Amino acid sequence: MVLQNIIQAIKNIWKPRVTRMYPEVRPKLPERFRGLQKLDKSKCIGCGICANNCPNNAIKIVRARVSLISEKTRWFPEIDIGHCLFCGLCIDQCPQNALSSTGVFTTGVIRWTHEELLFTPDMLAREVPIGEEDE
Ligand code: SF4
Ligand code: SF4
Repeated sequence: MVLQNIIQAIKNIWKPRVTRMYPEVRPKLPERFRGLQKLDKSKCIGCGICANNCPNNAIKIVRARVSLISEKTRWFPEIDIGHCLFCGLCIDQCPQNALSSTGVFTTGVIRWTHEELLFTPDMLAREVPIGEEDE
């Protein structure tokens, strides 16, 4: 058994690598990969269609500030990324095109609790998507 493993290891020396040094070397994802969502608050009308269409009940409509410099609040989606299956239905069904795919598959930092996976409207609306800010 040990000998077989050594022979196998020697054979593999000349084969192309199948592992990469993540996160320094990111995988090349398919063009249509969806990833985390991005919210355009200026387009969102708080209708809740995204929440009603979510098969995993991952979206809640919550009140949040219209922009970072305004105290005015409106209804926006908040996504529980811990329950999201990245199907993209919320994006497809939004009548305002307020949600889009970022193609980002990482949340950037280790999140230890379920609460940390709640992506508030402000987090979803960030210019640089969560997970890409360290790039
Ligand atoms: S993101 Fe779209 S579907 Fe969801 S509440 Fe806003 S406008 Fe409605
Ligand atoms: S991508 Fe799918 S599972 Fe995730 S929030 Fe949107 S509708 Fe729900």
